[in-house]
Amino acid sequence: MSDIVLHVDNVHKSFGGLRALSDVNLEVESGKVHAIIGPNGAGKSTLLNVCIGRIRPSHGKVVFDGQTLTTHAPHEINQMGVSRVFQTPEIFPDLTLLENVMIPAFARRDGAFRLNAIRALSGESEIREEAEFILEDIGLSARRHHEAGSLSRGDKRRLELAMCLIQKPKLLLLDEPTAGMARHDTNRTIELLQRIKARGMTKVIIEHDMHVVFSLADKISVLAQGRIIAEGSPDEVRGNPKVREAYLGE
Ligand code: ADP
Ligand code: MG
Repeated sequence: MSDIVLHVDNVHKSFGGLRALSDVNLEVESGKVHAIIGPNGAGKSTLLNVCIGRIRPSHGKVVFDGQTLTTHAPHEINQMGVSRVFQTPEIFPDLTLLENVMIPAFARRDGAFRLNAIRALSGESEIREEAEFILEDIGLSARRHHEAGSLSRGDKRRLELAMCLIQKPKLLLLDEPTAGMARHDTNRTIELLQRIKARGMTKVIIEHDMHVVFSLADKISVLAQGRIIAEGSPDEVRGNPKVREAYLGE
């Protein structure tokens, strides 16, 4: 029997007169990579924001691990084990890479963080060791004492991914993790996401780039004008005429 970790149940969202999401249903299986694709303005980011509590649906609910998320605040959802990478990186540009990666670990453990406490940590601290390990894994270790603001756009996005990974989420949501990246950076990010896929973390990835989607996804849902118009394995979706039509209509 399949093990559904995230259940989007009959979600609707209107912004004034605009229907951004209409009757969206989604079942995400544990340990899988579930991609949500669709043209610009389809409602992908809105759906992700509903899942993390940033946007309240007009109707319907999201259930994660048996708990209804739609009645919780974003920080509570985060503490339940849901992390997200946004379309625009949200990092602390004046802090070092190492400090950036340690902050979410403290925030998750203590509900807050004090920069002085983070700076005072010795190399033996567990959180610091973990942060060093993740930066190594993500290929940014050599610059761990540099300010995060000095990174390229692609590296900022990878840093944000590191900030999610240190929280050891059960569910990771990624909104266009390769948006605006050059092909070389995109390939490095795919390679990284494939490596973390092997660790069994469940992921929902929103992506515009088909190359990324077909390299990573176990299952794909296609969103167009706020509705799921197709769903299936990458091969099933690739061959679906409705999907081609939605993309050609862009
Ligand atoms: P996608 O991520 O698929 O490109 P979005 O979820 O960002 O699409 O947007 C879906 C639709 O909802 C778009 O028409 C967008 O303009 C609209 N929209 C998104 N957020 C808001 C908001 N806060 N207020 C009003 N309209 C919004
Ligand atoms: Mg978007």
